[in-house]
Amino acid sequence: MFVGHFAIAFLLWRLFPQVPLPISLIAVSFPDLVWSFLVPAGVEKVRINPDSPLQKFIVFEKFPYSHSIILGNVLSLLVALILGGLLNDPLVIPVFVAGSASHWLLDTVVHLKDLPVLGFNGDTKVGMGLWRRGRLAFLVEYAFYAIVSALTLPGFSIVYALIIGGVFHFVNANSFFGFSKKNSIKSSNAYAGLALFGFSAFALITSLII
Ligand SMILES: [Zn+2]
Repeated sequence: MFVGHFAIAFLLWRLFPQVPLPISLIAVSFPDLVWSFLVPAGVEKVRINPDSPLQKFIVFEKFPYSHSIILGNVLSLLVALILGGLLNDPLVIPVFVAGSASHWLLDTVVHLKDLPVLGFNGDTKVGMGLWRRGRLAFLVEYAFYAIVSALTLPGFSIVYALIIGGVFHFVNANSFFGFSKKNSIKSSNAYAGLALFGFSAFALITSLII
């Protein structure tokens, strides 16, 4: 999931306006940002299918540090404590952890049964698998993003959010619909790099415009 995560950043900003929006944008991206470094480091493993761009064929073999609700959020709590200290605002801590935890919760809707709960060996894995129905997943993710944005953002920011989210979501459309027969992403490292670029670019553009 991509744009759907950012809807929760807008919600957190609405609920806690004293915490700067970039904090929430980084928080909801945190698991995938961590993941984008741990994949090339060889700590976490993902296998892409060269013959299909569809998300349902991506095999997330191992990502306990970035994508488990327990271990993953111990890491996010450490980062939250540092950010809370740097900004001298204790409220940053729960907001950051809530944003990071929301990432896992929303991922459980779309991922196949590959998301670890605890983050340790022999773990239970969860996922409702909406990605199996790519077209529906495409609509549901953008509808969720649009509705939450419209309910939480002030005034004209809603229009900017819908446009920015729409552009990023459409760039991502091939992974839902499978327009191309081959996968343009050639390696797990390239996929990780794309995730890093996508999450950073969205967070930066949104921070500047909204
Ligand atoms: Zn994720």
